[in-house]
Amino acid sequence: ETARQSAISANLAKSRYLASVSHEIRSPLNAIYGYAQLFERGDGVNAQEAARVILRCSEHLTNLVEGLLDISQLEFGMLRVRTEEVRLNSFLDHIVSMMRPAAHAKGLAFTLEKTGRLPEIARFDQNRLRQVLINLLSNAIKFTQQGSVTLKVGYAGQIATFEVKDTGPGIAPEDRQRIFEPFERGEGRESGAGLGLAISRTLVEILGGQLDLVSTPEGGSCFRIVMMLSEVAGKA
Ligand code: ADP
Repeated sequence: ETARQSAISANLAKSRYLASVSHEIRSPLNAIYGYAQLFERGDGVNAQEAARVILRCSEHLTNLVEGLLDISQLEFGMLRVRTEEVRLNSFLDHIVSMMRPAAHAKGLAFTLEKTGRLPEIARFDQNRLRQVLINLLSNAIKFTQQGSVTLKVGYAGQIATFEVKDTGPGIAPEDRQRIFEPFERGEGRESGAGLGLAISRTLVEILGGQLDLVSTPEGGSCFRIVMMLSEVAGKA
């Protein structure tokens, strides 16, 4: 009976998931379809405006498909963790150089803050951790209109802490749990697939860590990753 109940609820969850996916796909497709029809009829549509909408919708669909692929890989447990020896400083510098232009383009300051002694070389899955940090930093830049975005890294007793802080609007208390679920976006936010945080949290858990939203007294948002990062000692 227990097994039957859990199969039923898993099946319901899947139906809900499929309903959300179809809903998410339908609206951008409708927009693309609608503009293509107007063009065909030769109604005086503004070509540039139409192209802009079609582009935005296609980008949205691409992100959605990529996110869904990531999620299904995670759910089927197909994702293998690949740890390797990584120079922590170059890893961080690389991320900063990727994200800084986007922050500066919006007039935001972007800083990397290191606290304590970081290991020179550590063992971890750099591609996955990079994916999560880029995700959090892109959100921070996307939602912040003025001020700064900071990546703060600390290390003590083989435990690393990565914090992504911004001076944006912050996250309402009623949204704090919800935003980590697939397809959930904050109130009134229609852009974005709502998959980034769900993927990031699952990835961090697979890497053996934890991703949480922490409150900051000065407002804005702060996402914190705590994970074990073993130091590789004695290597030049
Ligand atoms: P997406 O950004 O694609 O909508 P995410 O899963 O990355 O999906 O984020 C879910 C929601 O969490 C966003 O829609 C937004 O409302 C909220 N959010 C995430 N990061 C931030 C941030 N740094 N500041 C404010 N709101 C955020």
